[in-house]
Amino acid sequence: MTVASFFNRASRVLSSSNFLLVCTLSGGGVVAYSESQTGAERPSIDANEPSKKKVVVLGTGWAATSFLKDLDASLYDVQVVSPRNYFAFTPLLPSVTCGTVEARSIVEPVRNIIKKRKGEINFWEAECVKIDSSNKKVFCRSNIDNLVGSGEFSLDYDFLVVAVGAQVNTFNTPGVKENCHFLKDVEDAQKIRLSVIDCFEKAVLPSITDDERRSILHFVVVGGGPTGVEFAAELHDYVHEDLIKLYPTVRDKVKITLIQSGDHILNMFDERISSFAEKKFTRDGIEVQTGCRVVGVNDKVITVKVKSTGEDCSVPHGLVVWSTGISTLPVIRDFMEEIGQAKRHVLATNEWLRVKGCEDVYAIGDCSSITQRKIMDDITAIFEAADKNKSGTLTIEEFQEVMDDIVLRYPQVEHYLKQKHLRDFTFLWQDLRGNESKEIGIEAFKLALSHADSQVKSLPATAQVAAQQGAYLARCFNRRDHAEEDPEGPRRFTGSGRHRFLPFRYRHLGQFAPLGGEQAAAELPGDWVSMGHSTQWLWYSVYASKQVSWRTRVLVISDWTRRFIFGRDSSRV
Ligand code: FAD
Ligand code: MG
Repeated sequence: MTVASFFNRASRVLSSSNFLLVCTLSGGGVVAYSESQTGAERPSIDANEPSKKKVVVLGTGWAATSFLKDLDASLYDVQVVSPRNYFAFTPLLPSVTCGTVEARSIVEPVRNIIKKRKGEINFWEAECVKIDSSNKKVFCRSNIDNLVGSGEFSLDYDFLVVAVGAQVNTFNTPGVKENCHFLKDVEDAQKIRLSVIDCFEKAVLPSITDDERRSILHFVVVGGGPTGVEFAAELHDYVHEDLIKLYPTVRDKVKITLIQSGDHILNMFDERISSFAEKKFTRDGIEVQTGCRVVGVNDKVITVKVKSTGEDCSVPHGLVVWSTGISTLPVIRDFMEEIGQAKRHVLATNEWLRVKGCEDVYAIGDCSSITQRKIMDDITAIFEAADKNKSGTLTIEEFQEVMDDIVLRYPQVEHYLKQKHLRDFTFLWQDLRGNESKEIGIEAFKLALSHADSQVKSLPATAQVAAQQGAYLARCFNRRDHAEEDPEGPRRFTGSGRHRFLPFRYRHLGQFAPLGGEQAAAELPGDWVSMGHSTQWLWYSVYASKQVSWRTRVLVISDWTRRFIFGRDSSRV
């Protein structure tokens, strides 16, 4: 008996409570759940029951948790592998760095999540070290200290869902790994919190000179994206609302610098937001250095190259937080090499989230990226499929019918129509045909859609995307048999029949950037931008509502209330 099957059997004996979905929240999209105390036992496994397909899920982050909470686990034999036995609400990590919110308030044990599910889900706290897709196996290793045995095991799968996220990208900058803090996980946030307090305690020691005090209290944030900006803002509030009252002798020695290689911070947001943030930071005394690239860090000094002059400039620091983006994990790199994706930067999936070049392996969240098929690659096949009477031209009926499927299969076409302010296909048709003919030929058809592919956009690495992908994939898994008989997807242009499912479609529900001082900026759907104090209250309500459980929701709200009344705690524990 393998270790896995032993645990499988053992866990079947365990009982569990039912799971009740309370509400699916939009946006970041993980769902709140509550316990339904019916006391109902799980149905026992019937020996005659046909064996269920094995689904192995790698990860317990946004994508995997969203998948697990929507999956009908009674249909599959589900096993989850992750080195982290909890789900972390990452958007509140910057708040953990300064004690605005406690670490335990933003995490939920994965066993709490899965025990409330209908069906059976097993969790193994281990890291996947190798994916062997040709033999449909994953190799795992537990990192728990003082294990009896090696802690290594393998799991067979029928379907694999890869949701392992990504790692910090240091761009191989010398000294970054050794001397910078990262802000990717709960442990990182806790370490930053302790280091900030350390810096203040060090700076007030009587043996320190004023210059040394300035260096120790120079906090540098590298990366002007949402995480770097939010951390700088949190730190500024922490220093000015709490710490300088406790360390008044060093109040004029504290400095926060935000380094960004691009020309503006928050450059993925609307221009109005990025300039609002820059102005606010300047007013707050946070130094924003744009157009600078970090070329080296040691334990005392950070060196940046100023792009405009080409000069290197070194400044002493007390703490550097590195937040410049993400890169692929080694286990995914190895897997990409195995399946012929070695030349790519990130694991490629098709629009149904299936890994390219691999049967039955799906990848969701930060570890993958969807390769959207270009309409121009299929344009001849599309025209032939559309021309039902084989006349070599399309009538308006033929055109409209094919456009319905095109828009489902190639989402860039919809973006293109929107960009051209064409409300529906008939406008495109009129555009094409002019007054000359009642039907259109292939050249006009090609011309009409030739610019649509420029609207192909890759999705951002956000919790919102990861959660939507998890929910989408779970729905596909739940409807697998049904969709086999009754496909719901668009017509196959380069084959026969229809696709089983609609391709994944991302719905952007907006994005926040908290800027400190009870102010935030938000980009909402429909090019709507909102900034200021009221947006911060919107942020509070959205983030409270998106919590993964009622327990964490209560904890987070009580942390915020505690902070309003008593301020943040600066004990070094
Ligand atoms: P993750 O959530 O990172 O989960 C990956 C999981 O895989 C983890 O459970 C990990 O333990 C596990 N794992 C890792 N290696 C292995 C392995 N070898 N085998 C098995 N399991 C493994 N996004 C937003 O939309 N809004 C925000 O406000 C926002 N704020 C953020 C703030 C911070 C500080 C950070 C770091 C990120 C923020 N993000 C935000 C981005 C968001 O957190 C990520 O896009 C999201 O976590 C991606 O989800 P994921 O499931 O792909 O990966
Ligand atoms: Mg025709």
